[in-house]
Parts: sequence; C-alpha cells; structure tokens
Amino acid sequence: MELIEGIVLKQINYKESSKIIYLYTSHGKVSVLVHGSNKLKSPYLNLVRVFSHVRLFVSGKDLKTLREGEVLNYFSSIPEDLNRYAYGLHLLETVYNFSNHNHDHEKLYLFLLKILSLISISDNFELYVMMFELKLLYLLGVQPLLKHCVFCENTKTLSFSIKDGGMVCENHGSYSEYKVSAIELMIKLYYYDLSLGEKIDFHAEDIVSLRLLIDSYYEYHLNYKSKSRQMIKELMAY
Ligand SMILES: [Zn+2]
Repeated sequence: MELIEGIVLKQINYKESSKIIYLYTSHGKVSVLVHGSNKLKSPYLNLVRVFSHVRLFVSGKDLKTLREGEVLNYFSSIPEDLNRYAYGLHLLETVYNFSNHNHDHEKLYLFLLKILSLISISDNFELYVMMFELKLLYLLGVQPLLKHCVFCENTKTLSFSIKDGGMVCENHGSYSEYKVSAIELMIKLYYYDLSLGEKIDFHAEDIVSLRLLIDSYYEYHLNYKSKSRQMIKELMAY
C-alpha cells in the first residue's frame, strides 16, 4: 500500500462503473483507478470530485488502484458559484496541462492549495487565479521580464510586449496595447507574497485587460489555451 495526498484535477469514466481520477500531488500528476465509484451510495463518491483535497491508500505498480481514502478538504464554495467555478476549472485544467513539465511540483502543489482556499472565500477570485498563472510562467521558465527593457537596461518609459516577453523601452520601439494600470496589476500579482497577505488594490476593468494579456501570453509562448476559458467567456463576456 502507498499513501498519496493530492487535489483531484479531473475524473473520467472507466468501464461500466469505475473512474480514473487525476490528482496533483507534491510529486506531480498521479492517476488512480477507483472501482465502483459510479454506483449510488458508493463510499468513494466524495473522493472522486474535482476540487477535493484527498488522502488515498492505493495499491498496484503501473495502475494504482484505490483501497481506501478520506477527504481532507472539499472546496465546496467553488462549484456553488458559476463564475468562480469556471475560473476554478480553468485553474485545474492549466495545472493538469503543465503537470508533466519538470518543474518544482512541491512548491506548486502547496501554492495551489493556498490559492484554492483564497478562491473559495474571496470575491476577487479572478485575481488569485491570475496570480497563479503568472507565477506558473516562472516555474515553466517563460516568465515575462518586468524590471527593465528586454533588449537593454533601460527602466524608463517601458511598455509591455507579449511577443518580446516583457517590457520594452521606447528606444526599442514597442507600442503597448495595455493600460499602465493593468501592467501595474500584473507586476503586483507576479511578485505578490501570500504569506504577507497585503490588500490588493485594483480597478475592475484591469481584471479584464489582464485576463486577455495572460491568455495571449500563454498562447504565444506556450501554445496553450484551456477549454474552460471559453466557459469564462460565455459567462462573463470577455
Ligand atoms: Zn530598450
């Protein structure tokens, strides 16, 4: 038997009454077969829900099979609100997509747990999802260069360029389509220290600008767009 602790990112049906769940753990992604989880009154129903933080006892080498388990925490308020849910799914899908990358999974796992708690209680859940996405760029090695121009040491008159991967000064000639306040919000979120818990000031319209910026950045540098992103668009019209 082996003990696994993780967050359920995704579940798929398998054969007649079983499921395979995909967990994010401090070692990366792990899949577990759960027999009989589709049956009514299955004791495993809660263990296979996405947004569950679970501890499982599993056996088997190649395909791990659930033997026993418990829910440590279920972020129940995330699915209760449709907008929050869409953002939450986008977050889990993004974690799933990059979980085979060779980055610091322990760091990201602990960070994801904190972000999920914040998303479940904060009215500004979008901010925390975007904070996660920005910090993930660093772990993936494609973080934007924000402190000075990408091409020189200039720190004045900077504007943001998706394709150059960061700030560009006026000598290196890029015109930014993003408002200064949206870029300031990005910098704030990118460097934000959760352990200090400082209040984040922002303008509502900058949430939309920054969302679009992060989408473009992920598409351009990682060729990635989540399926849940479309759901956010349908619900929130951006
Ligand atoms: Zn420059």
